[in-house]
Amino acid sequence: MSTIATRLIDNYIGGEWTPAASATDELDVTNPATGEVLARVPLSGSADLDAAVVAARAALGPWRDVSAIGRARKLFELRERLVARQEDLARSVTTEMGKTLVDARAEVARMIEMVECACAIPTTMQGRVLEDVSRNIDAETIRQPVGVCAAIVPFNFPAMVPFWFLPFAIACGNTFVLKPSEQVPLTQQIAFEELDALGLPPGVVNLVNGGREMVEGILAHPGIDAVSFVGSAPVARIVYEGAAKTGKRVQALGGAKNHMVVMPDAVIDQTVSGIIGSAFGAAGQRCMAGSVVVTVGEAHDRLMPALVEATEALSVGDGLDESVDVGPVVSCAARDRITGWIDRAVDDGATLAVDGRGAEAHPEGSYVGPTILDGVDPGAPIVQEEVFGPVLTVVEAGSLDDAIAIVNESRFGNGTSIFTENAAAVRRYRHDVEAGMIGVNIGVAAPVAFFPFSGWKDSFLGDLHAHGPDAVEFYTRKKTVTSRFFSSGQGHGSYFVEG
Ligand code: NAD
Repeated sequence: MSTIATRLIDNYIGGEWTPAASATDELDVTNPATGEVLARVPLSGSADLDAAVVAARAALGPWRDVSAIGRARKLFELRERLVARQEDLARSVTTEMGKTLVDARAEVARMIEMVECACAIPTTMQGRVLEDVSRNIDAETIRQPVGVCAAIVPFNFPAMVPFWFLPFAIACGNTFVLKPSEQVPLTQQIAFEELDALGLPPGVVNLVNGGREMVEGILAHPGIDAVSFVGSAPVARIVYEGAAKTGKRVQALGGAKNHMVVMPDAVIDQTVSGIIGSAFGAAGQRCMAGSVVVTVGEAHDRLMPALVEATEALSVGDGLDESVDVGPVVSCAARDRITGWIDRAVDDGATLAVDGRGAEAHPEGSYVGPTILDGVDPGAPIVQEEVFGPVLTVVEAGSLDDAIAIVNESRFGNGTSIFTENAAAVRRYRHDVEAGMIGVNIGVAAPVAFFPFSGWKDSFLGDLHAHGPDAVEFYTRKKTVTSRFFSSGQGHGSYFVEG
């Protein structure tokens, strides 16, 4: 525990760092590797949200007056600023969330890639024109900003997930209100220092720290036009329904249970490395973490010895130590929930191939070591429910058909991978599997910024996915203009009947 007084972090509203005016409570922000209290976060109240929305609405006009290329230039500058701060950002991610520095640096690189993608806005926001929809009558569709857009984000990617939304929203001419996860609010303090330095019109970007009440306030607020959410499946549903009730545009990315199918011909060394990175990277706290291996036929016996050996070789400890492979999970509550899942699976008959319970890299830290449960029934709760920790479950299938049936039984459909050199099996898998993101011999098939990111089924509620071309769709409203002019001397047809 920290012995010095810890600072209470500010919100960023209307271009100013502002103490929360209406906080209902404050929480500790804790380093999960050591239990040290890093800072305190206010659970801001409705007056803080109102101030952010008023500032964001006031900035809509001035920001829209900045040309698309002018907005892109601000994003180019932001990109340079974030590159200069990338090590600070990565260390902040590791310190407040726990993932290793290697994972955190990769996250920050992806965050910056989002800004790079949004820099293309003068091209990607273009509309469409058709000359002569009728004689001398033209039709064009133009894209305009939606208005004030909010994002509510989870703890597991403190740098990247807010940037799935912020750069695209402001590139399209919207203004923005971010509510970070109250468990990891510090990395966005750094990002907002860099946003502040851009000299944007006050109110273009706003940061309000808070928890559940702040989310409820965002959903009900008449001054917010669009909401993006990333987090667990039950809260995704609350957000989707709550935002729709007040007429907002909404996209809600929820929880996951990702399967990795291993075919008998898989290249074992590479497959083991892909599975380990997927299941235990970020201590399994990724929405794209592979948490179920489905072995087909003899793949089980080929895979398991190498998988167990590689898992047992992983070191657990503080993610700031560059020799560590697996950091802590985000909190002691998360640790206890995850070990409870392992206890229950063992009670239900699973075989513990690797037991990560009791990992203790620091007495005040929240550690769970990599764990493998073998011989599990595909219908067992540990296969069907999201654990969100370094726990890998292995189930056996007799054929590719059986494996696809196991994958498609899940109520989630975020990501899935297949490991094989057989192109026909890959084609079949890609065609039949019910998930939004597919990896072929890739353990974490998270799409790059230039492609859309999202799952299917209970992993996603909405229409337009995050980042890539979908972001421009989400953050713009289309307006179609049909026009003619009488002084051109060219004559005119009827708009409804071609003359
Ligand atoms: P969470 O749902 O607990 O919290 C997400 C956000 O919702 C936070 O900002 C939190 O303050 C708020 N919140 C929490 N409970 C709420 C409630 N009852 N009412 C209103 N708001 C509430 O999620 P988390 O634990 O921070 O993150 C982990 C989850 O996020 C996992 O389920 C993971 O799969 C999911 N996730 C999904 C994706 C994706 O792309 N699908 C990406 C990252 C994380």
